[in-house]
Parts: sequence; C-alpha cells; structure tokens
Amino acid sequence: MNIAEEWRSRLSECERELIVHFPVRMDDGGVKVLTGFRVVHNDTRGPAKGGLRYHPDVTLDETRALAALMTLKTAVVNIPYGGAKGAVVCNPELMSQGELERMTRRYTSEISILIGPDRDIPAPDVGTNPQVMAWIMDTFSMIKGYTVPAVVTGKPVTVGGSKGRFGATGRGCMINARLVAEHLGIGLEGATVAVQGFGNVGSVVARLLAREGSKIVAISDVKGGIYNEKRLDVEAVFRYSQQTGSVVDFKDAENITNAELLALPCDILVPAAIENQIVKANAADVKARIILEGANAPTTPEADKILSDNGVFVVPDILVNAGGVVVSYFEWVQGLQAFFWSEDEVNRQLETVMHNAFHEVLEMSQQEKVSMRNAAYMLAIKRIAGAMETRGIFP
Ligand code: NAD
Repeated sequence: MNIAEEWRSRLSECERELIVHFPVRMDDGGVKVLTGFRVVHNDTRGPAKGGLRYHPDVTLDETRALAALMTLKTAVVNIPYGGAKGAVVCNPELMSQGELERMTRRYTSEISILIGPDRDIPAPDVGTNPQVMAWIMDTFSMIKGYTVPAVVTGKPVTVGGSKGRFGATGRGCMINARLVAEHLGIGLEGATVAVQGFGNVGSVVARLLAREGSKIVAISDVKGGIYNEKRLDVEAVFRYSQQTGSVVDFKDAENITNAELLALPCDILVPAAIENQIVKANAADVKARIILEGANAPTTPEADKILSDNGVFVVPDILVNAGGVVVSYFEWVQGLQAFFWSEDEVNRQLETVMHNAFHEVLEMSQQEKVSMRNAAYMLAIKRIAGAMETRGIFP
C-alpha cells in the first residue's frame, strides 16, 4: 500500500497497555489476586472501543491482537472509533455471581484511569454479558458521583442499552450473507448453511437465515454438532439447546463432530464459535462455497491461502461480525444524547452501515485484485493512516 513508515510502525504497536493485579474476595472467605489487561491499540479516529473477555487462557499478547482487530473493524465499517480490548484471566464458569460482581467492580476501578465515554469504551466479549456491563457502568458512575451510561455498551436496556444490540452481530452476519449471495448470484432461499457455534452470534445468524428461507443443515456447539441434510428446524433446536445446554442428541438429526461440520458440503459455512478453527490441516476439507467469519479469527493465515486457492469466497471477520460494534456505536450515541431509538430504526441504520461497508470492501477487492480479507485490511488501514497523516505528529 506504500504507507509511510511512520504510520506503518505506529500501527505495528499498541498505544497503551495497562496490566493490573487486584484482590478479589471469594465466597469461601479467601482472597485471590487476579490479573487483568486493558489495551488501546490505536485511537486516531476516535475513542478506543473494544470488548472485555473473561477466560482462563487469555494473555496480554492475545489482548493486543484483539485490540488491533478492533482498530481495523471500526475503520472498515467507518464508525468514529479506534480499537481496544480488555481481559481478566479467570474462569467465569467456575465463579458465583457474587464473585463475578466483586471481580468486575474491582477490575473497573483499576482500569478507570483509562476508560470513559470519550476515551475508551468497553463492551461484552467471550465470558462477559450485559450484566457485567451494568456493573462496570455502576462502578464507574460511583467513582464519578453521577451516572455515566456511555462508558460501556452492550448494557441491559433498563440502564441505557440499545434495542437490537443483543442480536446485532448475528444480524450483521445475515446481512453479509444476503449481500454475498447477491454478488455471487445465488439466492439465500434454499441455500444450504452449516453454523459452528450456537451462542450469541451463531444462534442469531442461524435463526435469521432460516427466516430468509435458507436450509440450515448443521449446527454445533462446544459439545458437538447435529446434521440433517434436508434442513433442521432451527427454532426447535434453539429451544432444545436452551433446555439441555447443547444441540447434541437433537431428534430428527444425526450427531456429528465439529470437525465433520466444517467439512460438510454446503453453500455457506459460518464459523461462529472461537478462533483457529480452520487451520492448515483441515482447510482443504472445506467444501462450502462461501465462508462467513462470524467468530473473530476462525481462519489461520495458512488456511486462508488454501481456501483462496480452492476458490472458496471468504468474507472476513472484521467485516462480517462488525454488526455488534456498529450497534454498540448506536448505543453510545443514544446514551450521549439521552434519546433512544426504536428497534426498527436500529436495524435500519445497521443495514445501511453494513451495506456500505460490504460494497466498499468488494470494490477495493476488485480494484486491487485481492481477497475480501486483504481488501478489508486495505480499506481500514487507508482510513487509519489517512487520519494519522491529517492529524500529523507534533512537534
Ligand atoms: P458465545 O459464548 O455466546 O457462544 C460461543 C459458542 O461457540 C457456544 O455455542 C459454544 O458452545 C461454542 N464453542 C465454544 N468453544 C467451541 C469449540 N471449541 N468448538 C465448537 N464450538 C465451540 O460467544 P459469542 O458471543 O457467540 O462469540 C462467538 C465468536 O464471535 C467469538 O469469536 C467472538 O469473539 C465473536 N464475536 C462476538 C460478538 C458478539 O457481539 N457477541 C461480536 C464480534 C465477534
């Protein structure tokens, strides 16, 4: 892209990295000292924005990578934010609500020197949810002495969350499915779809695509997957997995593994679980015509090359799953203005932003003769480097 070295090297590093070690009182009366991070990768285009992850294996390096992806994601969809990410090394599944609340509040207090509505705005990610966001908002507001709704997004609607936020990432995936199907001249109606992961992103995209008339033939979660070559009744699978905690053993389907799901013959494959699922060893097995990356970084660079050689049309994570951050942006705007929109208005605005972003990435990919992923990176980097150049470096 012939970007000047000063902008390239700035983008290669994170701007701010905070590591905190803080005590949490556990239910048994003991105290654990936990480690957390908050990383701002770049805030040239606006306040930093990015999720908060609670996971036992999370590291500072992973947090940096996720923060960098957020800088690119907000630039691709052209919303006025930079990129950030936060994390606490913990296993939320083994913690009580009380422990989670005490941990969240103490972590918020530690990172309060960096966050704020016009500085850095957390949101939910793996292991966190709207309740965690409400605790962050409450703790930050206690420190300030007044209510600051716009310090986090992904809050419950009762405390300033946006309508449509919960399903926004899945809805954004569905919009991308529609746009890519249109581009490749295949109808979504009757298209066969396999979805890996049936959480916030996977369940919403599966349900919305089923409503568009697509045939969802396979769904999986961490415990395994199910397959019915004719079509699964997605609403029934959803109810079943809510009741039993998994899709496995759903009637009217055969059980399959996650590895088998990724290799199924289908029109659209949606990896919507976790990172590093399509790797060098299994990329050649993928038979789908289109991959929509609902998860962050589900495909490794080696696998990406194999998919591209095999003619699989990959729509990249920073475009496909940006619906969440777009509606987070709407939530922030609504919070700052104290003026709230209807769900229809939120969905309509989301549609416009995703539509524009998809077509800008597609145009870049055709002009530069590069993959959709490289085009998305190029579009994002062009915007960020352009903003850095216009702002300049002083002195
Ligand atoms: P979630 O925790 O709600 O759901 C994750 C799903 O994946 C669950 O069904 C889980 O059982 C399954 N899963 C976990 N590990 C798995 C494994 N090893 N193999 C197969 N399935 C596995 O999480 P989510 O919010 O739906 O996020 C999914 C992905 O999308 C993550 O990569 C996340 O970073 C990304 N993402 C989420 C959002 C959002 O708004 N929720 C936004 C952008 C990106």
